[in-house]
Amino acid sequence: MASFYDIIGQKQIAEHFQHAIKSGQISHAYILDGEEGTGKRFISRIFATALQCEKGGENPCGECHSCKMALSGNHPDIVTVRHEKPNIISVDEIRTQIVSDVLIKPYSSPHKIYIVPDATMMTQQAQNALLKTLEEPPAYAIIILLTDNKEKLLSTLLSRSLSLSIKPVRNSLIKEYLEKNTSVDKYRLQLAAAFARGSIGRAIKLAEDEEFEELKTTVVSVLEGIDDYGMSEIMDALKKAAEFKDKMSDYLDLMLLWYRDVLMCKASSDSDRVIFVGEERAIERRAEKDSYEKINRVIDQILITKKRLDSNVNLELSLEMLLLTMKGK
Ligand SMILES: [Zn+2]
Repeated sequence: MASFYDIIGQKQIAEHFQHAIKSGQISHAYILDGEEGTGKRFISRIFATALQCEKGGENPCGECHSCKMALSGNHPDIVTVRHEKPNIISVDEIRTQIVSDVLIKPYSSPHKIYIVPDATMMTQQAQNALLKTLEEPPAYAIIILLTDNKEKLLSTLLSRSLSLSIKPVRNSLIKEYLEKNTSVDKYRLQLAAAFARGSIGRAIKLAEDEEFEELKTTVVSVLEGIDDYGMSEIMDALKKAAEFKDKMSDYLDLMLLWYRDVLMCKASSDSDRVIFVGEERAIERRAEKDSYEKINRVIDQILITKKRLDSNVNLELSLEMLLLTMKGK
């Protein structure tokens, strides 16, 4: 069973929770704040399981009745708040699942723990209802709010909770994790890690996502072929890019990463550390051929195109400019 040792790249948070368990200094309300996919649910579940474990250690033992119930998601004293509407946690949901429920003593454990995933979806009323509970919580109550931007919560709620922020995980740790826990090829793993912006959850998704793989293949074929493109091939490439309309930001980020590899290769003539594993030859060729000035011009144009993406200005035109810049001298 998972324990605090399995939490990757969040040593401080793991240590904080372990210390709290050991010393018995446990807050009635926690906020775990961090981007999507950074392991908030995973960490909160380990904390909750450890708190309820019959052995009373700083890690869940994984063997007692309480740990087994927690593992199967059926622990009567670990409640994960659910909501019906996709983006809203209503005041009624908070009232029935926490405010009234918390008055009933724990069934078989020392604590009664509530986990609220996506806590920022609580309406203002819902947050106010929860605040009442936090003002005079029963001794056994622990509420863990998971947020991707805690600033969206009422300041009164923030001030009554202990906030812990989950930092992005280092790239090398993400790679290591993927190597150990998935069966994806090295070249996919490398790119997924680079693309995941510190989120293990996102890295796993990307590593196994066929659509992302297809996008990568498309982008690489443009990057490799651009020198030989005539106007009609450029038009084809634009048409193909339009098929990835929803993934345009990823499309451009892949180009950025590629040119980052080219720059690194040019500066150090070392292609061992490229992100695009398997494309070393093509990247070396590009690094030999293009001047620093040209590479920087391309990178600037990618960044301009990315900006246009946000402002919805004619994207196709901007992309065409980008391809022409790549092709140019
Ligand atoms: Zn246990």
